[in-house]
Amino acid sequence: MNIPFVDFNSMHAQIANGLYDASSSVINSNWFIQGSEVSSFEQAFSNYLSIHNCIGCGNGLDALVLSLKALGIGQGDEVILPANTFIATALAVTYAGATPVLVEPRLDTYNIDPSKIEEVITPKTKAIIPVHLYGQPAEMDSIMKIANEHDLHVIEDTAQAHGAIYHGKRAGTFGNTGAFSFYPGKNL
Ligand SMILES: *Cc1c(COP(=O)(O)O)cnc(C)c1O
Repeated sequence: MNIPFVDFNSMHAQIANGLYDASSSVINSNWFIQGSEVSSFEQAFSNYLSIHNCIGCGNGLDALVLSLKALGIGQGDEVILPANTFIATALAVTYAGATPVLVEPRLDTYNIDPSKIEEVITPKTKAIIPVHLYGQPAEMDSIMKIANEHDLHVIEDTAQAHGAIYHGKRAGTFGNTGAFSFYPGKNL
């Protein structure tokens, strides 16, 4: 039996007409960058997350890199992230010029183990990037407490957790920024 790794056909079949209508309206408008489609999506997604600002960018990796740059993180800085994640989390840190510092995950959640974060904090640490892996939010209460105590920024890698809720709030809305991916194979 052949089981496809990611089966876009069956996923898209359920919403195919909507996808065709939306792409034809973009093509017919001749407006391919920014424009009203992007701003109406930004508005709709920030309403969905109950946050004030949402900015469309090229992909989830860019969202992470831009978050790091916006927070002034670069050469000589260290950024803590889980050892168990997709490569883009660490790539974003190296693209920004900073150094990734890996922390082991919890065996029962596969997400970063908050009890192991403090031991890797140094004077060079500038931020933590928790990843909400496989749709399951990381332990944001403990992570935000550690970040506040050590004056660190928090960038949530929410590429795999659109709509996930942690203690009544959507994943991606706890830290300084939350980065999402809209690649069709994602949990979206
Ligand atoms: C896919 C993914 C990204 C990057 O998103 P792209 O849109 O593919 O650039 C970042 N982090 C995690 C955890 C991901 O799964």
